Amino acid sequence: MDGPQTLAPIFARKGSYLFLAHLHPDGDVLGSMLGLGLALMGQGRRVTLAGPHPVPEPYRFLPGAQWIQQWKDASGSYDVTVLLDCPDPARTGGLLESVRERGTTVVNIDHHQDNRRFGDLNWVDLSASATGEMVYDLLQYFGWSLTPEIATTLYTALVTDTGSFRYSNASPKAFRIAAHLVAEGAAPARVAGELYEGRSREDLRLLGQLLQRIETSADGRVAWLVLPSELAGNQDLIEAEDFIAYPRSIRSVKVALLFRELQPGQVKVSLRGKGEVNVAKIAARFGGGGHPNAAGCTVALPMDAAKAALLDAVALALPPTA
Ligand code: 5GP
Ligand code: MN
Repeated sequence: MDGPQTLAPIFARKGSYLFLAHLHPDGDVLGSMLGLGLALMGQGRRVTLAGPHPVPEPYRFLPGAQWIQQWKDASGSYDVTVLLDCPDPARTGGLLESVRERGTTVVNIDHHQDNRRFGDLNWVDLSASATGEMVYDLLQYFGWSLTPEIATTLYTALVTDTGSFRYSNASPKAFRIAAHLVAEGAAPARVAGELYEGRSREDLRLLGQLLQRIETSADGRVAWLVLPSELAGNQDLIEAEDFIAYPRSIRSVKVALLFRELQPGQVKVSLRGKGEVNVAKIAARFGGGGHPNAAGCTVALPMDAAKAALLDAVALALPPTA
């Protein structure tokens, strides 16, 4: 199935809706679930919003963010369960499985190429810059109005997944949708202020220290940062700072990596490319996935071994130097 029209009968139902976020929620999953969730509430539907992790501080300004519950287990029953921006059901930390046991129609709306099509209804659009763009298409198709609150959530999804409209997924369509969302009440300066200007002086000092730790390969094509273990669990800081943007910003760099130890022997790796190397393929070899230029995985190795394994894989994926 391939478009909002196939979802129309589901969203016409008067029943109860559950939206589930993925682990370590980002601006796209939060913006999308709030955008569609608020729209359904506006249509008089009963909507529950939940996820396995709390909403990181930089996203708490999003309209409706206060309604997103943090769940260890799912206990209720819902007619429809919606997953957005979630290629793999395991990324709900077990929540989808337990909701499914009690019977529900699962709707999977996503833009990742490695989406596992785990829904009863699947709409996967690889050309969408963000899942928020797909939610916009859905609302337009249904003719549901964009309130300033909904516009803000979807605009935030687009801003975060396109790196503030700087990455290769910043398509003409993404800009056209952004223009419409701004016209409907999304405020770019406010959103950027909330996302990128919430630092304390201490945060900035810390950032300065971390930037000193960036390492590069001898040929300058790979750069990486290992977050010290005392910071690795600080999800607010990690979401706010987009640390991987700094090694990525070196001109000669083709692949950037960020390593953080979630617990001893478990390392979360983020990868970013600039078109030369498909980093999703590298992440997939370590049980992760993502987009060609932005991917991630979690490996069960101590930090040094994780670093060596990933840096080896990246070196092999790079074209030989002349
Ligand atoms: P980040 O590095 O910001 O966590 O994630 C970048 C991209 O990689 C996102 O599109 C995200 O969905 C994907 N990603 C990150 N970690 C994982 C993972 O463990 N598994 C999968 N399948 N995708 C991941
Ligand atoms: Mn996304």
